[in-house]
Amino acid sequence: MNMQLVEYFDVIVMGGGPAGAAAAAVLAEKGHRVVVLEREKFPRYHIGESLLPFTFHPLQRLGMVEKMRASCFVKKYSVQFVSASGKASQPFYFFSRYEQEVAQTWQVTRADFDLMLLNNAREKGAVVHELCSVRELLRESGRVVGVVAQSAQGETREFRAPMTIDCTGRDAFSALRNGWRKGDPLLNKVAVWTYYKGAKRDEGIDAGGTTVAFVPEKGWFWYIPLHNDIISVGVVAEGKYLTREGIKDPRTMFEREIEQNAWIKSHLSSGQSLGNYYVTGEYSYHSEYCAEDGLVLAGDAFCFLDPVFSSGVLLALKAGVMAADAVHEALLAGDVSAARFAEYGTFLRQGIENMRKLVYAFYNENFSFRAVTDKYPELANDIVDCLSGDVNKDFSKLFAAVAEFAEVPEVLPYGHPKSKLESTAVAA
Ligand SMILES: Cc1cc2nc3c(=O)[nH]c(=O)nc-3n(C[C@H](O)[C@H](O)[C@H](O)COP(=O)(O)OP(=O)(O)OC[C@H]3O[C@@H](n4cnc5c(N)ncnc54)[C@H](O)[C@@H]3O)c2cc1C
Repeated sequence: MNMQLVEYFDVIVMGGGPAGAAAAAVLAEKGHRVVVLEREKFPRYHIGESLLPFTFHPLQRLGMVEKMRASCFVKKYSVQFVSASGKASQPFYFFSRYEQEVAQTWQVTRADFDLMLLNNAREKGAVVHELCSVRELLRESGRVVGVVAQSAQGETREFRAPMTIDCTGRDAFSALRNGWRKGDPLLNKVAVWTYYKGAKRDEGIDAGGTTVAFVPEKGWFWYIPLHNDIISVGVVAEGKYLTREGIKDPRTMFEREIEQNAWIKSHLSSGQSLGNYYVTGEYSYHSEYCAEDGLVLAGDAFCFLDPVFSSGVLLALKAGVMAADAVHEALLAGDVSAARFAEYGTFLRQGIENMRKLVYAFYNENFSFRAVTDKYPELANDIVDCLSGDVNKDFSKLFAAVAEFAEVPEVLPYGHPKSKLESTAVAA
C-alpha cells in the first residue's frame, strides 16, 4: 500500500447517506472541520423511499424543510392497509393526530434526497470526498484515531481526527470488522422490488399515500407513489415462502406474488415495470456496541430493523443529529472516550426497541392492531405515535396490552459503549 497523504480534521464521517450527511451538517455548522468519505458518486440509487411524519424534526434541525417543500417529491398524508383479499382500509391521515407541518411528509427518490442532504452538509462547510472507500480504522493506544481510505484510482490516503462517526449503512463497516454485528433473533425476511411507470394512483389527497397490502403467511407489499409517474413496489416475506416451488428468479417471484393480492394486481395493471428487479435478505441486525474510544456508530451502521414501518431514514437522520451533538460535547470536553456515548446508545436503543416490538407483533400470525384498539381504544394514539416515528415515548401501557395478543420480545441488551475494560480484555 502506497501511503501518500495524511489529512487532519476534527471529525471523520464514514458514509454520506442520511445518517452521515446529517451528522456532518450539524458538526460543520458548529464550526468543526468535518470530512465525509463516501464510496459512491452521488446521486446514487438507494432503497428506502417513504418518510415518516416525525422525520420533520431532524429535517428542521438540518435546515432542510424549505428545500423539501420546494422539491418535486410526492406529498404523503396517509397510510392504508389492504387485506390479502384485496379490500382496502380507510386511509389513516396523519393530520387527524398531528399539526400540518408534521402530518405531511414525503415519498422521496433516494438518489435525489440523499444528494440534497449531502449538499446541505457541504453548504454548512463539510468537506466531501466521493468515490473514496474507507478500508481500515486506525488505532493508537486502543483508540480510533482515523481511517485509511482509497480513491477510485487506487490512491490511498490517511485521514486523522479525534472522532470518527461510522455511517456506512448496511455495510456496517466497524460492527462487522469488530465482530459486533448480530442478526435479529426472529426477523429473517427477504424483499424483492421493482419500479412501475403509469400504474394507478389513488385520487387527490390519497395520491401520495403508502399502501401496505398483505399476501399469505404475513407477507406484504409496499406500494409507494413517487414523482414522474413512478411507483416503487416491493414484496417482503419469509425466504421459504418467496422461494417456494424452487423459484429463485426475482422477477418470477414478484410476478407470482402480484397474483396474491387483487388490489396490487389491479393497481399495477395499467403500468409497466421498468425492468430492474432488486432482491435483498437477512437485513435485520444490530451492533453489540454503539461506540468505542474515538468512534461512534449511527444509522444502519448501528442497527437495521425491518422495512415494514418505513422507520429507517427517520432513525438514520435522528441518530446522525444525536451522534453529532454528542461528538460536539466530547470535542469541547477534550474527552472522546466511548463512555461519553452511553446516553446516546441508550436513547437510540430505546426508540429502536419500541419499534421492534411493533414489528414483531405485525409478523405474529395471531396479531392485529384492530384487536388491540377494539379492546383498548385509548391506546390507538400510542400505536399511531410509534408508527409515525415518535419512538421514544413511554409505551409501557401499549406493550402490556399488545402482550395479551402476541409475544412481546424482551429488550435486547445491545448498543452500550464498549468500555475500556472490555477493549483491554479483547486486545490481551
Ligand atoms: C427493502 C428495504 C426497504 C426500505 N424501505 C424504507 C422506507 O420506505 N423508508 C425508510 O425510511 N427506510 C426504508 N429502508 C431503510 C433505509 O434504506 C435505511 O434505513 C437508510 O438508508 C439508512 O441510512 P444510512 O445513512 O444509515 O445508510 P445508507 O443510506 O445506506 O448510507 C450509507 C452510505 O455509506 C456508504 N459506504 C458504505 N461503506 C463505505 C465505506 N467503506 N467507505 C465509504 N463509504 C461507504 C454507502 O455508499 C452509502 O452511501 C428500507 C430498507 C430496505 C432493505
